[in-house]
Amino acid sequence: MPITADEKAAIQKRYLAERDKRLRADGNDQYQRLEDKFEAFAADPYTPLTERTPVTDHVTFAFIGGGFAGLVTGARLTEAGVEDVRIIETGGDFGGTWYWNRYPGAQCDTASMIYMPLLEETGHMPSEKYAHAPEIRAHCARIGKTFGLYKHALFHTEVTALSWDDTQKRWTIKTNRGDAFTAKYVGMGTGPLHVAKLPGITGIETFGGKSFHTSRWDYAYTGGTPEGAPLDKLADKRVAIIGTGATSVQCVPHLAAAAKELLVFQRTPSSVDVRNNKPIEPGWFASIATKGWQKRWLDNFVENQSQGFPAEDLVMDGWTDLSRRIREKVRALPPTEWTPENMMAAFEDADFEKMEEIRTRVDALVTDEDTAQNLKAWYRQLCKRPCFHDTYLQAFNTPSARLIDTDGQGVEAITEKGVVVQGTEYEVDCIIYASGFEVGSDYTARAGFDLEGRDGKKLSEHWLGGMRTLHGLQVSGFPNAFIVQPSQAANLISNVPHNIADHANTISAIVAHMEANGFSETDPAPKAEAAWVELILTNSGMLIGSPDCTPGYYNNEGKGLTDKNRYALGHPGGAKAFFAHIDKWRSTGDFEGLRFR
Ligand code: NDP
Repeated sequence: MPITADEKAAIQKRYLAERDKRLRADGNDQYQRLEDKFEAFAADPYTPLTERTPVTDHVTFAFIGGGFAGLVTGARLTEAGVEDVRIIETGGDFGGTWYWNRYPGAQCDTASMIYMPLLEETGHMPSEKYAHAPEIRAHCARIGKTFGLYKHALFHTEVTALSWDDTQKRWTIKTNRGDAFTAKYVGMGTGPLHVAKLPGITGIETFGGKSFHTSRWDYAYTGGTPEGAPLDKLADKRVAIIGTGATSVQCVPHLAAAAKELLVFQRTPSSVDVRNNKPIEPGWFASIATKGWQKRWLDNFVENQSQGFPAEDLVMDGWTDLSRRIREKVRALPPTEWTPENMMAAFEDADFEKMEEIRTRVDALVTDEDTAQNLKAWYRQLCKRPCFHDTYLQAFNTPSARLIDTDGQGVEAITEKGVVVQGTEYEVDCIIYASGFEVGSDYTARAGFDLEGRDGKKLSEHWLGGMRTLHGLQVSGFPNAFIVQPSQAANLISNVPHNIADHANTISAIVAHMEANGFSETDPAPKAEAAWVELILTNSGMLIGSPDCTPGYYNNEGKGLTDKNRYALGHPGGAKAFFAHIDKWRSTGDFEGLRFR
């Protein structure tokens, strides 16, 4: 239903009022890491630590991080003939985010067909449109086995130092397990959402009951399994969950079904749209899984997220829905009126309509009127990570489940007995922190080590004014090093693995070129890096990062993009333009802008 100008003005006013309630001076600094007095929160509940002898050898390629980035890069390098890729991983196995996040109900929010990498290469058919976490974790192990990546991997190991030895033309890597080995090339896939955080509230350490972060789920306490067995040990427990982001949306229905009492502490509601998950039918899959199918699907998703009028939408989900609505509005205008201003207006109108639908959905699904009002999200859909779920809202109809809305102020304190909101103490047996992961901090602070490049220059020094790379992947003065992440590249947040998988292709092309030509080092020429950064800075940042949005990690907790944040944007032409550029760049074989020695 189109929205009138008066309705729009009223909604906009509400958006700003809700944002203002939540603005706080401390921004990102409000959170605390699972360190020091909270160190116990960080322990790995899934795999026991095993003793091993420190490693002191040499490998061709060392990759820090055993999530999708390390796995896909390792796979592509193996295909290119590199036999000794060593992945170093903090967790006890491959998986990265999918190793740690085993909370009940965890599943991918982007369709498995494009989210799970290397499906074609491993011959795996996802079981559902949105696969659950155990299947994704098993897929990570499958990639590891298929490409022989377990052989050299070091688990439960954190890199502490990484420095370039210009005489030997290799990197020296040191770890917290006493390893000191060398590698010709290094890759890093350490995030971005890997450093778990706790809310910055007092008293967390004083709580006398059980507490844990969602990325360290304690099934020994809750009962149940990541595969979906009910959390039977919670039947006599009063449980609090703090946070209502994408993680909480997925696990709340499971907690509501199991706990004697569930209190969901909310600061800002998520927008929760229809999920519509369904099994993937083998006959259908066989009919579409012809050679090159996954690339076709990936390209089609990107096409559907870009400007233009793609003929078909293969994925058909919440991400492409918004783009489709915008396109329909633009298409209704004569081509002479396809101006940037009209595009933005179409975007805004489509967003208002979408959010009205999402708020109406709350009324349709939640019985208690007050609860329904409090579950409505008053901001534009892309101000925060959009959520999709078919049972989250209904979970609040369970008699034992209660929403404790904090009117944007958040939980005040934790006491020995429970959780305090606006002076009221709620006594509970267990507190689960669904408080997310660090985002706004500097890359090197999050990675836990600082690269030391040519002439001892640190990456943190090189990036003092903001990130500087060629293609978001290579840095001048840091030879043979690759940083696998979306910034200064496609920045396709609706399908993060696509960014990573594409970088893996670039890395393997560069390494193959180096090895075939007997080169010992490569890095971007300073001029090429500067030109790339200049191009990135022409990106307006549009809605993502807008200070008008309610605070969250998309907009630097309400502070908007700082000058430094602008350096972490993507290609100004969007994901499609980046992928087209890089594909051409690596296929020509001259790797323009790189220096080879
Ligand atoms: P988020 O950062 O999205 O959510 C943290 C939550 O904690 C927010 O609701 C936040 O409120 C709340 N919070 C923080 N401090 C307080 C406080 N003092 N009192 C009350 N509440 C508080 O973390 P998630 O783990 O949910 O998700 C992080 C990201 O991980 C997602 O955005 C997504 O990118 C990814 N993810 C992906 C999934 C998938 O693809 N399947 C599933 C889950 C996560 P407020 O909003 O007001 O800041």
